[in-house]
Amino acid sequence: MEGWRGVIAIDGPAASGKSTLARRVAGELGLAYLDTGGFYRAAALAVLRAGEDCDHEEESVAVVCRAAIAQSDGRTSLDGEDVEKEIRTQRVSEAASKVAALPGIRRILVERQRRWVEDRGGSAVVEGRDIGSVVFPDAEVKVYLTAASDERTRRRAAEMTEDTEPEEVGESLARRDQKDISRAASPLHRMPDAIEINTTALNPEEATGEVLKMVHGCRATE
Ligand code: C5P
Repeated sequence: MEGWRGVIAIDGPAASGKSTLARRVAGELGLAYLDTGGFYRAAALAVLRAGEDCDHEEESVAVVCRAAIAQSDGRTSLDGEDVEKEIRTQRVSEAASKVAALPGIRRILVERQRRWVEDRGGSAVVEGRDIGSVVFPDAEVKVYLTAASDERTRRRAAEMTEDTEPEEVGESLARRDQKDISRAASPLHRMPDAIEINTTALNPEEATGEVLKMVHGCRATE
């Protein structure tokens, strides 16, 4: 199905399988893949490194304005340094969910995410929390991914780059989900035009197949 053009927006809570799915779909369609969570994580790391408080909007915005955040093949860099490992720690995860609640930070990062896709000809698989609602409200395909919370905890614990108790991972996921759902700025929610896929009992091939079926259904944009 190479040659398909457009934006595929994949939103959903943490560890619902967005990254795995987005990478696979991008690979099948020969499209670029953007992990917008990586931008929020790199922004949080920049704020932490500057010694500022991730709850303070003015200081955080000043730091992030100066920070060069780049992403290629799903690997995120900050000021030219590959920070992929460091941004997956518990400390940065918590900080990312704080900076993500600041409207000033979202304005900067949404703009950069749109430009990233524009620079790749306007076609990409983009995953996050507000892709179908804010970043690309006109996306050709919108997916809302979910999975049972114990399955999400198991997946995230397996991905962690440091030793963390599963209980702590579960609590952190629940805390971050709650913050993402209840924040005033671009909260996580399923858009009426997004198709929900529950990945609890699906393997990555099956979930990818579901999305490719949706892409087939909108061949008119080819
Ligand atoms: O997807 P990931 O868990 O890596 O995202 C890290 C944090 O960034 C999330 O907890 C969420 O608060 C925030 N985020 C967001 N909007 C996005 C992507 C991520 O608010 N589009």
